[in-house]
Amino acid sequence: MGRAISPKTPMIEDTIPLTTAKPSTLCESCAGVQQNWRRAKGHPELIQGTHRAVAHRHGSVTITKYVCERCGTVWEYENNKVNRHAGWSVIG
Ligand SMILES: [Zn+2]
Repeated sequence: MGRAISPKTPMIEDTIPLTTAKPSTLCESCAGVQQNWRRAKGHPELIQGTHRAVAHRHGSVTITKYVCERCGTVWEYENNKVNRHAGWSVIG
């Protein structure tokens, strides 16, 4: 009773699949932040900076700037209740 061997060799994933292209300058913590998702969390090494209110049609949203003290990446977090894809984004 020999096992049937599939002619297709299954792909062995020995590397972490990159689902989204990330700049190599991001540190591990920054790379782990889910971008453009409103309820995503940042990471402890982000230092909160200035925030500003931006007027939208439905009202104003607050955008807060953060800087990672580990890699220097500048983030913005948009707190927009009507846009769940507004969240973390790398701006520099
Ligand atoms: Zn970082």
